Amino acid sequence: MHRAPEEWPPEGLEEVAQSLEFLWIPHALTAGPAMNIPIEPTIYPLPALRFLALSDWKECRPTALVTGGPAWDAVQDRLRLPVVWRGEPQRATLDHWQALLDGVQGEVVYAVGGGLATDAAKFLAARCHLPLVCIPTALSVDAFLTGASGVREGGCVRYIETQPPDLLLVDLDVIAAAPPSLRAAGICDVLSIATALWDWRFAEEQGQNPPEMAYVEWVAEVARGILRGALDCAEAAGAGDPEGLRALLRCLALEVLLCNLVGHSRPEEGSEHYFAYAVENEVGPGRTHAELVGPGILLMARAQGQETAALERALRACHIPLDTIPQEVVNRTLKRLPEYAAHHRLPYSIAHTPGVAAALGGNESTRR
Ligand SMILES: [Zn+2]
Repeated sequence: MHRAPEEWPPEGLEEVAQSLEFLWIPHALTAGPAMNIPIEPTIYPLPALRFLALSDWKECRPTALVTGGPAWDAVQDRLRLPVVWRGEPQRATLDHWQALLDGVQGEVVYAVGGGLATDAAKFLAARCHLPLVCIPTALSVDAFLTGASGVREGGCVRYIETQPPDLLLVDLDVIAAAPPSLRAAGICDVLSIATALWDWRFAEEQGQNPPEMAYVEWVAEVARGILRGALDCAEAAGAGDPEGLRALLRCLALEVLLCNLVGHSRPEEGSEHYFAYAVENEVGPGRTHAELVGPGILLMARAQGQETAALERALRACHIPLDTIPQEVVNRTLKRLPEYAAHHRLPYSIAHTPGVAAALGGNESTRR
């Protein structure tokens, strides 16, 4: 059935005001507290989420488009945007984003693509006080759902507060048509719960959690439920099945919401991400998040003494490349990991312990 394209914003001032109300929430928050009044950190909401065919969407506002070549190629025939400015971020560094900022024009920012475009667009929208719409071309990361952007700095990743997208538009046909290794690669940010929870509890037992990151069993229990959801949907999501992709997006959204509510990422981020940040220095830029985190999950789970068969099955079902990091680079990274984790003051985990490489026999493959 063909539906008329949806006008956005709809006509009529009152309607516009009502429909845009949610768009302004993050910007209202940027006003900031009165001087000297301590306030709790902002708890960000999830973006409004719509499943639709992109050809049914019509944007009327002059648009600043943030995208990358292949991602834009994948949607440009379906998507009508009145683009008045276009930026193609090449790197996740503040300098680079700052340079893009000078040229931005338009009344709304659209991010079309994966994690890099999304993180840069969140930065640009936040700095320009503009609403942000994200159109993922693959479920490759959880960045479409969070209010922070990851920047590379001094050999590690630092998350800066930017803003969550106001609206997430998901065309499941577009996602299904993405390259298989990207299509459902965001599953790594849910499967990482397996290793992150172990680390979080370990840190508690070692007396290493600051009070604001104290281990809470019911939060861990909720996270375990989300992990089960990801293990259950991995095969369908990896195959591009619409229900599988929807289920994976739900898992990602719940994982982000849980971290937003508890105020830190310990339920989802631990030694597997630290391995990814450390190994990225060795292999250089250009690898996907999943290509680094996926092997990290298996290595750290093994070091923690966890059973890895189900995790590996799920990673392989989602076509995560597990064998692309040269073996000697893996070994070198593992040896340096405790020093790296301490140097970058990462929350305590098995990666901080000298035994992490030894636990893996010093010559550990990401596959068995
Ligand atoms: Zn991640």
